[in-house]
Amino acid sequence: MNKPRRQSTRLVHAGNHPERHLGVMNTPTYRTSTVLFPTVASMKEGSKKRFDTFYYGRYGTPTTMALEEAVADLEGGYRSVSVSSGLSAIVSSLLSFLKCGDHLLMVDAAYDPTRNLCKGFLAKYGIETTFYDPLIGKEIENLISDSTKVIFTESPCSQTFEIQDIPAIAQVAHQHNIKVIMDNTWSAGYFFKPFDHGVDISIQAATKYISGHADVMIGMVTTKTSQDWEIVKRTSSYLGYCVGGDDAYLTSRGIRTLEVRLERHQDNAIRLAKWFKKRPEVKAVLHPAFEDCPGHEIWKRDFSGASGLFGVVLNEFEDERISRMIDGMELFGIGFSWGAFESLMIPTYPSEIRSIGDWNPDQKYIRIHAGQEDPDDLIADLENGFERLNGKA
Ligand SMILES: *Cc1c(COP(=O)(O)O)cnc(C)c1O
Repeated sequence: MNKPRRQSTRLVHAGNHPERHLGVMNTPTYRTSTVLFPTVASMKEGSKKRFDTFYYGRYGTPTTMALEEAVADLEGGYRSVSVSSGLSAIVSSLLSFLKCGDHLLMVDAAYDPTRNLCKGFLAKYGIETTFYDPLIGKEIENLISDSTKVIFTESPCSQTFEIQDIPAIAQVAHQHNIKVIMDNTWSAGYFFKPFDHGVDISIQAATKYISGHADVMIGMVTTKTSQDWEIVKRTSSYLGYCVGGDDAYLTSRGIRTLEVRLERHQDNAIRLAKWFKKRPEVKAVLHPAFEDCPGHEIWKRDFSGASGLFGVVLNEFEDERISRMIDGMELFGIGFSWGAFESLMIPTYPSEIRSIGDWNPDQKYIRIHAGQEDPDDLIADLENGFERLNGKA
């Protein structure tokens, strides 16, 4: 028997079936709503297998299925479901395993719209959320009640980059029959293999690294088991989530170069983080590969690398100085999303979001996405930026 192929090889080939598409390597864009059946009998037959064949555009096309196959392979799961955005992937995975009267444990440093979903939407439907400290580890057991059905994790966390002890959390969860969902967007499924660490359902904003070019909104939910896949696919269908052919195509195209892009993001981010670390204006660098980052030891144990997004804690500066620095950057854009080729810089405000811990509103944070530009050019831009920060320019 052949040895299983390595990740780099699988990223290039997974999900592609040229033999089904006239020899074309990347599964072409199928744009469709209607799928025609030769007979009424075959239409009825198709209805029973609507998740596995081509029945109606909303349920999937060869283009979305090719992408789902490639992402499931990347994450190391059973199968994926593609949905219309990263946030839809979060909604679908939560609604798949929660109902009225259930209790959700949500990491306190989750992506902000995930928090809003819990407070503004799930609460309205009778699902109660308790936010927990990202560094809680196995002590999460103390927060579990009979109605707890899901523990949601995100590692590293948004804005503050804590690394969670997912294996410890999963071990406790599984003793209580609780599903562990993870937002695995930061690692892109490349630097962290969720199902080797006890995760049951891994979601990603493929909007970020997988598509990788700042031109697609798309989310992926990948499950470890076929039973969970059925549940997630059914929920996503109830919600009417689907992905257009062009977006699925562009995302599959992106995945072919994921490895080379991520290696470059990793190198550039480490170069920039080292630069920040040496500066007297900087209090701490929140990059999982650096010791200042809470959970760094767990990152070393569980991750094979780091992507391009990290945080910087500044010493005391007026907001106006920080804005001057950011406004004048030439290579770092001001904007949301990240994971594409370009560098970004925004201020972040953890104290406005977090409900656990002591978050000083006077503590200033910025978030950096290291793009694929030449790192020396990025550093020259940062040097000018710090002149503005210091009021010298
Ligand atoms: C961007 C992001 C999302 C949401 O993805 P969209 O495609 O923008 O809906 C979810 N989780 C994390 C960690 C993100 O950074």
